[in-house]
Amino acid sequence: LGGSISRAIQQMSNATIIDEKVLNECLNEITRALLQSDVQFKLVRDMQTNIKKIVNLDDLAAGHNKRKIIQQAIFNELCTILDPGKPSFTPKKGKASVIMFVGLQGSGKTTTCTKYAYYHQKKGWKPALVCADTFRAGAFDQLKQNATKAKIPFYGSYTESDPVRIAVEGVERFKQENCDLIIVDTSGRHKQEASLFEEMRQVAEATKPDLVIFVMDSSIGQAAFDQAQAFKQSVSVGAVIITKMDGHAKGGGALSAVAATKSPVIFIGTGEHIDEFEVFDVKPFVSRLLGMGDWSGFMDKIHEVVPMDQQPELLQKLSEGNFTLRIMYEQFQNILKMGPIGQVFSMLPGFSAELMPKELDNSNPKLMTESRIMRIARGSGRPPREVMDMLEEYKRLAKVWSKMKGLKIPKKGEMSAL
Ligand code: GDP
Ligand code: MG
Repeated sequence: LGGSISRAIQQMSNATIIDEKVLNECLNEITRALLQSDVQFKLVRDMQTNIKKIVNLDDLAAGHNKRKIIQQAIFNELCTILDPGKPSFTPKKGKASVIMFVGLQGSGKTTTCTKYAYYHQKKGWKPALVCADTFRAGAFDQLKQNATKAKIPFYGSYTESDPVRIAVEGVERFKQENCDLIIVDTSGRHKQEASLFEEMRQVAEATKPDLVIFVMDSSIGQAAFDQAQAFKQSVSVGAVIITKMDGHAKGGGALSAVAATKSPVIFIGTGEHIDEFEVFDVKPFVSRLLGMGDWSGFMDKIHEVVPMDQQPELLQKLSEGNFTLRIMYEQFQNILKMGPIGQVFSMLPGFSAELMPKELDNSNPKLMTESRIMRIARGSGRPPREVMDMLEEYKRLAKVWSKMKGLKIPKKGEMSAL
């Protein structure tokens, strides 16, 4: 998705005059990209209509950056789709809240319950897990294993077949034990059967959850809207968690799930491991969707690894478009501390390949003659090929950094996607 949309915007950027025709072509391109990314047709169509309404080309005073206005409109539209306008119920530490998880079998409920509990436990909460899935053989064992590993109290039964009874018993017990986050895992089925929805309704009725979280597998494609809506119609879903975002899914399902449930996405699952779980943030998500890079994630990393006293200077230089070999050298040393480098760089537009630090000189690379390259090669004891590779890498990076020229570099916690 990111690729096609940024291509569409790029094409528009290359056009010297942005008129109705260019805008339409751009919107059509984006429409195609969104549809391919499993965003529901109706959502895409509405978005297109809204953008056309907002961007009145004739009204734009001369001198205004029309391209920027259109980009901003697309960005805002996608953010609006992902923001249902009201926050979900937020549990309070120290006060018992019941959180019920629903979703199809295999969507990742049991895994996500544990991640959710673990996330809060690390922040000083007292979570507990209740296994109300009596349908699937092995469901209790799975939850028990997860909970034991994370040292989270759990409740369930191998013999009791009534999910409502277990749910009520578990919730009661953990209320007495002063747990402040009582998480009820429910069963799913292969299909959206009437019996499943009836069971969910009964569990909800009996445990009176403060929040029902709908768990959705990000790879289910165009089915996302209908599935989310079916759950919303049976129980009062108040929040969404999208799982398996580490896979090939393109993220469009998140927009459908929010639209169908009128509830915000609160977390995303990014792997099978208990700590592969992230707070969902609309703007960075949309930035990434549009191939604009995850500024806030990148900035957090910069703030983590670049020594405090160097930060303002580095950001200043980057925003001025001053990317020199020396900056590359110095920053590689910091950047390498960022961990899996591809992961960090994948947050930014234009980065993909692995980047390795090499011997380098602080000269203007444009003035690198063959004899100079040979001299550097001899001096550093590296083959000339490597010196040339390093210069190629510099050029590639310089191109990427040059896109940052003139951008307002956000401070920690701020976001400026455009
Ligand atoms: P449930 O039937 O809804 O309870 O789903 P489970 O929690 O049992 O998960 C089904 C499968 O999806 C398991 O193999 C999980 O390890 C896997 N899974 C869950 N969340 C994620 C995720 O965010 N990323 C990946 N890669 N796998 C996940
Ligand atoms: Mg399960």
